Amino acid sequence: MNKKTLLIHGGKTTDPYTGAVTTPIYQTSTYEQDGIGSLRQGYEYSRTANPTRTALESVIADLEHGKHGFAFGSGIAAISAVIMLLDQGDHVIVGSDVYGGTYRAMTKVFERYGISFDFVNTTDVQNIANKIQPQTKMVFIETPSNPLLRITDIRAVSELARKHDLLTVVDNTFMTPYFQTPLTLGADIVVHSATKYLGGHSDVVAGLVAVSDDALAERIGFIQNSTGGVLGPQDSYLLIRGIKTLGLRLDQIEKNALAVVSMLEEHPNVLNVYHPSQKDHLNYEIHQAQSEGTPGVVSFEVADVEQAKELVTDTRYFTLAESLGAVESLISVPSLMTHASIPADIRAKEGIADGLVRLSLGIEDTEDLVADLKQALDALTTK
Ligand SMILES: *Cc1c(COP(=O)(O)O)cnc(C)c1O
Repeated sequence: MNKKTLLIHGGKTTDPYTGAVTTPIYQTSTYEQDGIGSLRQGYEYSRTANPTRTALESVIADLEHGKHGFAFGSGIAAISAVIMLLDQGDHVIVGSDVYGGTYRAMTKVFERYGISFDFVNTTDVQNIANKIQPQTKMVFIETPSNPLLRITDIRAVSELARKHDLLTVVDNTFMTPYFQTPLTLGADIVVHSATKYLGGHSDVVAGLVAVSDDALAERIGFIQNSTGGVLGPQDSYLLIRGIKTLGLRLDQIEKNALAVVSMLEEHPNVLNVYHPSQKDHLNYEIHQAQSEGTPGVVSFEVADVEQAKELVTDTRYFTLAESLGAVESLISVPSLMTHASIPADIRAKEGIADGLVRLSLGIEDTEDLVADLKQALDALTTK
């Protein structure tokens, strides 16, 4: 089954009870039992399982070429559930430019429970190898990362991790299974902020997990039910609906990203462009080998933070906002917004310049987006 067909026919989204073609919203907390413990369809209580959520979970399992899916109330809830697989004393190696909320959950919450984290530049697998200790149990990566779109070799990391009996977790939010399927490259667990491309319409906050291994799935299911960060039926429905058009949206988003990148590369007011479609992007070949597309997030640098501030208010079709992955194009200044909580010296060391601007391309007309961004960049020269 090809990708666009899988988006429509993956999982079980036809209602098994009525034949309804779209998944009904089972807005119920509990289920009538015919006798004590005699459940009609296996459903007992909606924290444990709800048919709308079950349908969504079957979709993400199929899209990621895994066997089991889990839906949570946010991407961070999904990531937290995965970290709860660990025990006190365990150690995790994490990408140094991991999503800020992931970093915060790890360092401000899970460290208090005796789990330790080392943050390294994972673009070179050797940096991970150097940090492996007897207590290490997990490697957690994002590729491409945010906001500089750094590429990590999923195959190489998974291979190294397997040799040392570590779980490999990939946050696949930026690529989605339409462009990249980490389980097929050797990863054990895929996590998503489905708030972004999978939902795709800026109207739902959700997280998803997919795995292949049955025993691992049983442990995650136990954590999901025991700690309870589940996704409700309305939001599960919205995600199923959003996922159906993921391919159409990403085709247009990728087209827009590539057109914007080529304009930016030529523009005299742009100092640097960061996007894995560029041949001189670090690990370009690895990205080509492990994925089937390029992200809709593009970052670039203008001279300074003042120019960045000016630019983001001078565009018409790029909404000034955090987040990414929706139908509308967004623009942000990481040093003042998403990455403001990182101390300036660490930001500088990570290469996040004050004049860095991040775009999340939407599905608008390509020419309109390029022209809009270009006029805002042109205006910078006259100041
Ligand atoms: C947004 C995001 C998250 C967090 O997801 P929420 O749905 O906001 O909780 C995690 N990872 C990445 C890469 C993200 O972009």
